[in-house]
Amino acid sequence: MAVNLTKYHAGVHVKEEDLLSADFRCPVCLGEDERKRVLLLQAEPDVYLLKCRRCGGYSASRLPTEETLRRYYGGYYKHLDTTVTCDNPLTFARHVMAYAGPFLRERSISILDFGGGGGDLSRAIAGLLLASGTSNAQIDLVDYNSNLSRMEPTAGLALEPHQTLAEVKEKQFDLVLASAILEHIPFLRPALIDLLSRVKPGGVFYARTPSAASILRIFQFLRLPYDFTFPAHVHDLGQEFWEQVPRLVEAEAGTLQLISSRPSVVETSFLHNPIRAIAAYALKAPWYVLGSSYRLVGGWEVVIRRPSAASERTTLQVGSTLPEYVPQIPGSVSQPSEIAGEKLPRSAKSA
Ligand SMILES: [Zn+2]
Repeated sequence: MAVNLTKYHAGVHVKEEDLLSADFRCPVCLGEDERKRVLLLQAEPDVYLLKCRRCGGYSASRLPTEETLRRYYGGYYKHLDTTVTCDNPLTFARHVMAYAGPFLRERSISILDFGGGGGDLSRAIAGLLLASGTSNAQIDLVDYNSNLSRMEPTAGLALEPHQTLAEVKEKQFDLVLASAILEHIPFLRPALIDLLSRVKPGGVFYARTPSAASILRIFQFLRLPYDFTFPAHVHDLGQEFWEQVPRLVEAEAGTLQLISSRPSVVETSFLHNPIRAIAAYALKAPWYVLGSSYRLVGGWEVVIRRPSAASERTTLQVGSTLPEYVPQIPGSVSQPSEIAGEKLPRSAKSA
């Protein structure tokens, strides 16, 4: 059995006619510098993972056609369920809120959940917010395969499903989520700019992507089987990429600040799959000692913020531990939160 990037997808062999012709430009940043081959994704036709020196992102040398992806996600290849990408949405929601929560202090919160399947993560986050003083939460869920049959009515929570981002009318959001989705989008740049442009002043963007190229290269070197899950995954985006994103999109998306950048949360719980969970923690742990020189992390996550109108300096929290998000009882007197010595804005309405 090959090592697989995720238990939710499986790679398949793609034929010549199912691939777009090779483009020398990086589909992530449109950089035109020659990109270096780092990994063979499939042979005959050969598809490689290429590293872009300009943005630090890795992308497939040949991208699948829209029809190929429609067949893939339509279940043609009989792959596993693609609507859920986390074992425990509530645990994941608490994790995201530990970083994003201090910035979500309005009474009314809008969330854009991009590629969120059934909206498990955004609904769990909305639940935490509603339990801590937020009076209403609006979720706009964008997913081609969104399945909302499990949605139960919740007071104060409204959810609107959309098939594409273009259908979403609300201009900007307090929280934009893109968890385990960006690696699937062949021409990523416009989608990334659109998502980041939809972050309100003072709002935050959370993304989680695979960062596994270095691990898979070891498998390639040892001639062990591996599965990048091509054509489901076409990019691999780690620390080097994410820490350049605010600069790369500034002209189109405006000023953004990286608030948190670290190896991603382990998606498998010990209860569900102890061996996979232990392996994931063991791979990520050395980064906290070795820093960016260590790349065998498997996945990356970032929180990016659009500064509020009364722009205040926020210090980058790379690898540091933020205080656990503690839901506040509605009506209780709350203490102002501080990150890196900075007093965070608190909505006058909630005071
Ligand atoms: Zn690039």
